[in-house]
Amino acid sequence: PAVPHFADLGGDARVSFEFFPPKTEKMEAQLWSAIETLTPLGPQFVSVTYGAGGSTRERTHNTVARIARETPLAAAAHLTCVAASKAEIDDIADAYWEAGVRHIVALRGDPPEAGGRFEPHPDGYRGAAELVEGLRKRHDFEISVSAYPEVHPEAASAQGDLDNLKRKLDAGATRAITQFFFEPATYFRFMDKVRGQGIDADIVPGIMPVSNFAAVQRMSAMCNTDVPQWMARLFDGLDDLPAARQLVSSTIAAELCRKLHEGGVRDFHFYTLNRAEMSYAICHLLGLRSKVKAEAVDA
Ligand code: FAD
Repeated sequence: PAVPHFADLGGDARVSFEFFPPKTEKMEAQLWSAIETLTPLGPQFVSVTYGAGGSTRERTHNTVARIARETPLAAAAHLTCVAASKAEIDDIADAYWEAGVRHIVALRGDPPEAGGRFEPHPDGYRGAAELVEGLRKRHDFEISVSAYPEVHPEAASAQGDLDNLKRKLDAGATRAITQFFFEPATYFRFMDKVRGQGIDADIVPGIMPVSNFAAVQRMSAMCNTDVPQWMARLFDGLDDLPAARQLVSSTIAAELCRKLHEGGVRDFHFYTLNRAEMSYAICHLLGLRSKVKAEAVDA
């Protein structure tokens, strides 16, 4: 069947945006400019990642707390089990609760050195399912967890990975957000399996607008995401043409979103990498418009 024109999408999509905590003042300015640009789209929430090995504990906290304090957005903090005891995780969770943060993205996490293996802290949580259980006992957080349409690289099997997803949701998570992927069929095949397990929670696709193809190829290899041949062809020859590359990237991601929407998806999570333009353009194509403007016109 024909895929509907972008202009015919009803603006019924709900979106969320992911950022990373800035390291320098310049990066901080870039992040806040991105937040300012994306805020009028009225995201369901925005989240801030936690550096590998827990390396950004302070910076993640400060960024999330500032979003909670200074913007109308619902702020979510990523939190991992790496290199932390349960007592330390409790302290972090308490500090978020006190800062008015009500949403945690709960993950096992990866060790600080790329390619290393996760070793649980002797007094810590062994994985995301245990972390969700611990957080639930501590505070009434909304909790999101990860899901892997192409199977997590350390999973014993696809079924084992699905069992783990179910455990995380049964432990009290509200929704899962997927690792990024590039083919709509990857998501739909995964969803057939997820629903087949009796899981009825929202599994929100994570959308990565690709700004640097070589970097995404490296990341994809580490996290088991297939990079289709056609993508290499579409990025070929654009190394020195950043603006053209952005247009191609946005087109690819917008097409993915349109096909997901056509298949019934209404929630989309964007890995923004702290840049607003591509995510904003894709949301616009999905029919979202500035809520601030609409209210001003209504008034
Ligand atoms: P888990 O769900 O705990 O699973 C880890 C592995 O163990 C899986 O292979 C699972 O199948 C297996 N497993 C779990 N329990 C069992 C069991 N009982 N028996 C057998 N196998 C089991 N990383 C960061 O460091 N910071 C971030 O901010 C961050 N944000 C992310 C956001 C999203 C949306 C996603 C998808 C990933 C994010 N990551 C982040 C990456 C994540 O930390 C890594 O993928 C990590 O390797 C796994 O974390 P998890 O929470 O998915 O692990």
